[in-house]
Amino acid sequence: MTRRLIQTLIVTGALLLLSGCGGEKYRLSFEHAGFEAPKEMYAPGERVKVTYNLIGTDTDYTFYSDDVEFKQDYDPKQGYILRFVMPDHDVTLGVNSYSSMTYLPEPGMDPDPENIWGTKIPDDGSGERWFCPECGTENDGQYCSSCGMERPE
Ligand SMILES: [Zn+2]
Repeated sequence: MTRRLIQTLIVTGALLLLSGCGGEKYRLSFEHAGFEAPKEMYAPGERVKVTYNLIGTDTDYTFYSDDVEFKQDYDPKQGYILRFVMPDHDVTLGVNSYSSMTYLPEPGMDPDPENIWGTKIPDDGSGERWFCPECGTENDGQYCSSCGMERPE
């Protein structure tokens, strides 16, 4: 009887440890640099405060997480502040940043300045026509076809 009670107490205690105070903890991780959190591991239900201070001027930031809903604040001294209550699973936070002033092309897109208006500049490989200052011959090569003088810049 007494022994059974002790066993029950041990089992109950173990369950409490697992489900709550100081037992299982979940990891807070970040997809990008710039986030700061006081701890890496949190117990479920624990309040978490994350700051983000990698802030450039004229840059907009959008924070996201698939794992948790958070509240977002901004403090001029600390930067962005994200607050949430730790769920019973790992949480990953990320940020999208883009400049609100200049257009940044997608990586991998190679902007072609010659084709920006959709017009094709003819390129015959030898450049445009020029008149030789020495003999007056019209040329389209690198050297004058008549006297051999190099094309002036
Ligand atoms: Zn010439």
